[in-house]
Amino acid sequence: MRELRTCPVTGRVVLLNDHWVDAPAAPVAAREAGVPEEPCWYCTYAGPVIARMGDITVAPHPVPALGIEGDPRPTVVAGATRRQGVGAHELVFGLHKGRGEGPLLAAVAARVTDLRGDQRLRGFGASRRAAPGAHAAWQLFAMPTDLETSLPAGWRDAERAHGERILEDGGATTLLAWAPRVPFEVWVLPAQGHARFDRSGPEVIAAVAAAVDRAFAQLSVAVRGAPIDLVLVESEPWRVELLPRLAGPTAVEVATGVPVHGVFPEAAAHYLRDARRVTR
Ligand SMILES: [Zn+2]
Repeated sequence: MRELRTCPVTGRVVLLNDHWVDAPAAPVAAREAGVPEEPCWYCTYAGPVIARMGDITVAPHPVPALGIEGDPRPTVVAGATRRQGVGAHELVFGLHKGRGEGPLLAAVAARVTDLRGDQRLRGFGASRRAAPGAHAAWQLFAMPTDLETSLPAGWRDAERAHGERILEDGGATTLLAWAPRVPFEVWVLPAQGHARFDRSGPEVIAAVAAAVDRAFAQLSVAVRGAPIDLVLVESEPWRVELLPRLAGPTAVEVATGVPVHGVFPEAAAHYLRDARRVTR
C-alpha cells in the first residue's frame, strides 16, 4: 500500500509505503547502557552557569547558534530580508543518571518564562537526542522570530475518541503521529486544554514528562537502542515529539521534501501495544 498523508496539525506531507525496504524498521546496533568510558562532557562541564535548580544546571551553549547581543530588526537586501541572529541557545541538564524528564522539562519551562521577559525573543523550541545510557541534556533555543505554531487540540480530541493510534491516555495523551516522518514517531500532549508549554502548570508538565519517560523506554526497545530525538514543540497545546533516528533522508525526501518509510502508525501502535502485553 502506498499512501500520501497530510498531517492535520502541521500540514506536512509524508509518504507511507509498506513495501519500502526498511519495513519493519531496520535495527541499529544497541548501545551499551551505563556510564560511557570517555569522560562525559556534561559531567565535566566547567563553563559559566546561568542557573541551578536542584540537580539541574542551565548553562549557555559553548558554541551558541544564536547570541543575545544585537538588534533583531530586519533589513532588506536585494529584495530579501536579513536580521542578526539574536536569541538564546542554552543547555539544560541534570546528573548523569538523572531522575527522568520531569525535573528537566520543569527547568526548561522556567527558562522559557525568564526568556519571555526579553521583548526581542519570540519563538521557543527545544530538543535533545536521547539514547540509553547517554547523559540527558536539552538544548533550548529562543528565536527573534515567531516559530510556526499549530493547534493540535481538536485533532488530539478526535484521536482520543477514535483510539486506534493511542498508546496511553491519562494526564497526558501518547499517540502515534498520523503522518509520521520516521518509523514509530510518537507525540505526547497534555490530555486537556490548549496551554502553551510554560503556561500549562507544573502538574501538566509532570504528567507529560512521565508519559515521555514511558514512551521513550518502550520505543527504545522497539528500535533496539537507536538514538531518539525528543523535540519540544510550542503549540496550543504544546507537545513532545519522539523521533527515532534509524536512517538518514532517502532520495525521495531529498528530491521532494516528502519523507518516505515503511511503517504505518496503525501497525506501529499495534506492535507497541502487543509488546507491552508480552512484557507485563
Ligand atoms: Zn554525564
